[in-house]
Amino acid sequence: MTIRTRMAPSPTGDLHIGSLRTALYAYASAKQNNGQFIVRIEDTDQKRLVVGAADRTLQVFKDFGLVYDEGPDVGGDYGPYVQTQRFNIYQKYIKELLDKGLAYYCFCTEERLVEMRNIQKAAKKIPKYDRKCLSLTKAEINANLEKGIPYVVRLKVPDNETIVFNDTIRGEIKFNSNDIDDQVLIKSNGIPTYHFAVVIDDHLMKITQVMRGEEWISSTPKQIILYRYFGWEAPEFCHLTVLLDPTHPGKMSKRFGTVFAQQFIDEGYLPTAMNNFLMLLGWNPGTDRELFTLDEFVKEFNLKHLHVKQPVFDRKKLDYFNGLYIRKMTDDQLLPYFKKFLPQATDDQLATLIPILKDRLVKFSDLKEQVKFLFEDIAYDKNLLLKKGTSPEIAVQMLEAAKKVITDFTDLQNKFISPYLC
Ligand code: GLU
Repeated sequence: MTIRTRMAPSPTGDLHIGSLRTALYAYASAKQNNGQFIVRIEDTDQKRLVVGAADRTLQVFKDFGLVYDEGPDVGGDYGPYVQTQRFNIYQKYIKELLDKGLAYYCFCTEERLVEMRNIQKAAKKIPKYDRKCLSLTKAEINANLEKGIPYVVRLKVPDNETIVFNDTIRGEIKFNSNDIDDQVLIKSNGIPTYHFAVVIDDHLMKITQVMRGEEWISSTPKQIILYRYFGWEAPEFCHLTVLLDPTHPGKMSKRFGTVFAQQFIDEGYLPTAMNNFLMLLGWNPGTDRELFTLDEFVKEFNLKHLHVKQPVFDRKKLDYFNGLYIRKMTDDQLLPYFKKFLPQATDDQLATLIPILKDRLVKFSDLKEQVKFLFEDIAYDKNLLLKKGTSPEIAVQMLEAAKKVITDFTDLQNKFISPYLC
């Protein structure tokens, strides 16, 4: 069987570093088996859409070397790879569910739903649609549709069943169907929800393995029900751990530091170093080895070595990897990075600076501060020169003498240092 994995980002913002880690694993899982890695844009939540986010996410995958075989800008046999371009596909499938009585029209107003939820909450019950519209007759439904009353389409979740799926990392996960809400599949604006579109697309795109964050575990039973209603085989589900913040309890948050993949590049982290660091956040090779190129990782990756324990995003370790990868690069390879982060330096200056600075550099954005003194006048308090009773005249003489020494530095080096080296 060909392994087909996918990343399905929603362009509601820039790609989170945790999602990049998921992409790395999905890429490795497919490539290791000569399979395909696919990117699909899940943009059904139009209210939260951020302009440009989809393009920036695709660019991030490219910058990190995660070359996708199929996707919005590269095409493929199962396109389009953007959900808002697939509406006609979803229509056919929602009709099938409605005809079979596995989904139903719901005409409840937002006010009614809010009130219902409030009552349920007050009674300490899990908020769940009360199925008022499930009992509507065909004639009532048709009358409502003719009148143009706004509606959504809901999934008819089966009663009193155990919905089970096998998670690659966690093993068997069970849900009582009575706890599952009759999920909205088509919203009142006619646009499908993520839950519906994801199943149709994963099936039609022949996805065999779904890797995603563990926050999607509770959505999976709804998707399993849909697979069953359509008579389709569900893919393998692999829910990866979230990344924990190193400084605060809970998952990484933008309130406490950089979290978006692109931000790390902007701060001067190397994609090669980042990839290596991310590989080890939730996976181990089964040995002490820590350094892997992307290709080596693809060879070594093994689903059995994925962790259940949530890893901490140790920024110091990332800095360590970045420094290590910087030092592995030749001066020529480093030149474009230095140019980008020190645009004021000439090529000549960089030729001198790179060999000196690369040995202690952690990330390229530090460069500006490190060599600021070479490009900017330094503000200092003149009175510092007049300490211990030094007169202004003497201070001027001292400065001039110092200037001469610095100007003649090469000479000084030849005259005084070289003989001792002989
Ligand atoms: N569109 C979802 C997201 O942005 C993807 C969830 C999934 O992979 O099924 O996280």
